[in-house]
Amino acid sequence: MRKRFACSYDRIELVITYACNLACNNCDAMVPQAVSGDRMTVEQIEKFIEESIEKKVHWKHIRVLGGEPTLHKDIFIFLDLLINYKNKYSPNTRIILVTNGHGKVVNKRISQVPKEVEIENSNKTSSIQPSFSPINEAPIDIVEHKKKDFSKGCWIPSLCGITLDMHGYYPCSTAASIDRVFGFNMGKKMLPTKLGELERLFPKACSLCGHFVEKANDLAKEDVITKDQVEKFEKIHKEKFAETVKDNELYEQVTSPTWKKALGRYKLRKPVLNRY
Ligand code: SF4
Ligand code: SF4
Repeated sequence: MRKRFACSYDRIELVITYACNLACNNCDAMVPQAVSGDRMTVEQIEKFIEESIEKKVHWKHIRVLGGEPTLHKDIFIFLDLLINYKNKYSPNTRIILVTNGHGKVVNKRISQVPKEVEIENSNKTSSIQPSFSPINEAPIDIVEHKKKDFSKGCWIPSLCGITLDMHGYYPCSTAASIDRVFGFNMGKKMLPTKLGELERLFPKACSLCGHFVEKANDLAKEDVITKDQVEKFEKIHKEKFAETVKDNELYEQVTSPTWKKALGRYKLRKPVLNRY
């Protein structure tokens, strides 16, 4: 039976921009599907750090992503603020910049990133990503999945951690993008630290998300809730994830009926969400 996943509240991804210099099919930040100029501000990153210190959160990792994060005009201010948090408060935190490594501008910025920041570079060369999941194929539009228990989540918030974008905290970056397209306005405005706080968004978000039916979820042989369970699953995932996507052949954008409607509405009128 499909196992249950929880968010790791000691890991986080910051989606600082929805702009990118590529336009990949099935992008799970929905960069080309739902174009947006929204981006995080310096004040929001400062607020995130203040909250982290106030709530005594020593992040295991802070992954900075987008869109393409190096294209944010304030990227180096953000990195300096995060490095300052690491140096003064949480020396074991890994700060990771997740980039597509594509093009001159991006590569120039990568070369200027301070040494305290790790670079995770996917070195993309085109907008076709066959190994991606069909993110805009809603499980509720697929007969064999429409009645699944969506409150079980998926492996992503367990391993990548929770997400913060300009609209608040979410269980994962895909949920943040689902929110900006559907306009649920469900981003939490205060840093959540307890099990259940963000998992309660799973039923709505996962019912719309192509990651819910990924084969990688079946690598879990028990629920992935506690730290021990997450670490155990992380090992298996490292060894076997490549196997679960090796037969993916996604050469085109896939958009199921529920998404077609939502993206159509988005193009006519972009929902306005409260900001973090
Ligand atoms: S590089 Fe990444 S963020 Fe940019 S469009 Fe492709 S998948 Fe989306
Ligand atoms: S919204 Fe998608 S990525 Fe997030 S927990 Fe649900 S299935 Fe996973």
